[in-house]
Amino acid sequence: MIHEFIADEKAINDNDTEAFAKMLLQTHNNGRFLIPEHQFFSSPIKRRLIMLQTSAKTSHSYLRRLLVLPLIACSILIFSFSTRKDGKNEIIKADKKIVLVVDAGHGGKDAGGRFGTLIEKDLTLKIATRIKELSPGYNIEVHLTRSRDEYPTLAGRVDISNKISPDDFISIHIGSLPDKDTGRGNFNVFISDGNPQLIKSKQLGLSIFRQIAAVGGIERNNLSVESKGLYVLKNNKAPAMALSLGNIKNKEQMQQITNDEKLDELCGAILRGVVAANKK
Ligand SMILES: [Zn+2]
Repeated sequence: MIHEFIADEKAINDNDTEAFAKMLLQTHNNGRFLIPEHQFFSSPIKRRLIMLQTSAKTSHSYLRRLLVLPLIACSILIFSFSTRKDGKNEIIKADKKIVLVVDAGHGGKDAGGRFGTLIEKDLTLKIATRIKELSPGYNIEVHLTRSRDEYPTLAGRVDISNKISPDDFISIHIGSLPDKDTGRGNFNVFISDGNPQLIKSKQLGLSIFRQIAAVGGIERNNLSVESKGLYVLKNNKAPAMALSLGNIKNKEQMQQITNDEKLDELCGAILRGVVAANKK
């Protein structure tokens, strides 16, 4: 049908629409004319005739098509602005208060990864503490599994979370294996197939992934979402995920945590991801 429309349009280039329409009708009805009100209402030929009329009348059709350009330009602008905002410290407040448990990985006798003066247990506590400090602005209530240098057991951390029964649970870590050993990027989102709220965990993971990907300085190809059967995720009743925020041996990546301004950007991205994941 579309091909015929195009052919018809070509055929009436010299403005003999009426003659062409008559010819169409004639050939369609074996040389006999029909009154236009006749039963060929739903026939394709009627549509071709209507199209003939329309194309004959549209000398400004090209200009009219141009009118769509400002619309496209506006859409592009809208989308580019929202992406840029995501990269900055935009605060998105949750409509309804969200309860979040943040687990600073390791602690006490368990230092986690270590490189030079950097120790994973200190970095994770620093990140978790900052997330808690920034959280009220997002209408998120944060509970920490530890707020100082101590070691709650993995079961203890899960207990704390399950007693609070939060909307979400996030465990914070820093990677320390070289790229070639992990075979993945240095900013990783982990979820566990064993978690009873797997779909919500995935939504949370992807939501935070998106926000972290928009933070300046973090390469998208250094970021991945993976499934890992971590104890604190598997045994948690709440949607749960773990974040491995950079590699402790990568100086540039660690500036994301040691530099206060960059840390705020990272924590903001995590909180925005939580708000977005809880939006219905
Ligand atoms: Zn760790």
